Amino acid sequence: MDIHEYQAKELLRQFDVATPDGRVAADAAEARAITEEFGGQSVVKAQIHAGGRGKGGGVKFARTPDEAGQLFERMHGMTLVTKQTGAEGRKVKTVFIARAVDIAKELYLSLLVDRGTGRVAFLASSEGGVEIEEVAAKTPEKIVKVVVDPCVGLAGYQIRELARALGLTGEAQKQCGPFLRNLYRLFLEKDCSMVEINPLVITAQGGLTALDAKIAFDDNALFRHPDIQAWRDRSEEAPAETEASRFGLNFIKLDGSIGCMVNGAGLAMATMDIIHHHGSSPANFLDVGGGASEEAVNNAFRIILQDPGVKAVLVNIFGGIMRCDIVASGIVKASRENGVAVPVVVRLEGTNVEEGKRILAESGLRILVGADLDDAARQVVAAIQ
Ligand code: GDP
Ligand code: MN
Repeated sequence: MDIHEYQAKELLRQFDVATPDGRVAADAAEARAITEEFGGQSVVKAQIHAGGRGKGGGVKFARTPDEAGQLFERMHGMTLVTKQTGAEGRKVKTVFIARAVDIAKELYLSLLVDRGTGRVAFLASSEGGVEIEEVAAKTPEKIVKVVVDPCVGLAGYQIRELARALGLTGEAQKQCGPFLRNLYRLFLEKDCSMVEINPLVITAQGGLTALDAKIAFDDNALFRHPDIQAWRDRSEEAPAETEASRFGLNFIKLDGSIGCMVNGAGLAMATMDIIHHHGSSPANFLDVGGGASEEAVNNAFRIILQDPGVKAVLVNIFGGIMRCDIVASGIVKASRENGVAVPVVVRLEGTNVEEGKRILAESGLRILVGADLDDAARQVVAAIQ
């Protein structure tokens, strides 16, 4: 799960990590008032779950309170297109007013779970700011990685290594230890999957502060953090994925043309592989899980059909705990309730398979049944050609 910058900065403050003051403004008058409070200047920042806002026009400097008000009016409700949003962009519903910082240098710092070692790693570079992707692509040696031993924690020598990579001296170097330790503590205590501070800045006064912050959390640990869950912004997530999660289903949007309903992640992988093998690609897959009810299958099928990318549907179910007759009834129900404008091919195997096939055959609906997975995949690909 992702959160907005203003929420991430709230967390930084909770963990004593320096970040400029800032508040969300509800309207232009409040944007003016906050800017007044910050000494007459501010940075007006669009809050969307995507980076690259600066280059896309979502981060603007206000030299006066009135200008902050005008920038608020312009930004609030606009569709912001950045490198990370895709061409359709994101609607800006929240605008954050931050105290303007006099920047001496922009640096890069992030924490993530390093899959190779299974540990938390820090990435640091003295080349921070809006061009970090280019640094990573062209001069990866400028990004230093420090992997933390979970039994030892962030060690003194590692802090010195990171401070050196960031090119810190004087006051900034002094502040670096607590800054990094507090970030590490935040990462562990809140079960983060990523914390990215880009840019981390050295201010004109010589101190360190987190000018931007992006934090993502491990979904599997969210149940431990009701405070974080409360920050979930469903409108920033793919609508079909949100709807699926309401029914305890796992929906993944892809960019091909065949909708896939499966049970189990392994079967989902195999289904995608065999669709590719026969020359097409999946539009999505929806994992109905182990023991889904007829109602869950009905919802699953409806969600798949709502995806405009779907030109045909392949249902691939291996009935173990899941019973094939329940799957069949769910498909029939969804088809009757919503109508089906695209070809549907079903491959059922396992518990109550005969009963499942009978329900499909007697439904009077045009549902193709595959003899096996290979045959079903071949039929569904043929159906859209
Ligand atoms: P992003 O483009 O979505 O990553 O948004 P950021 O919050 O990182 O802002 C983009 C850029 O705007 C930063 O890299 C800075 O160069 C600039 N910027 C943001 N806030 C300030 C500020 O308070 N003072 C100055 N001088 N520049 C800022
Ligand atoms: Mn940034």
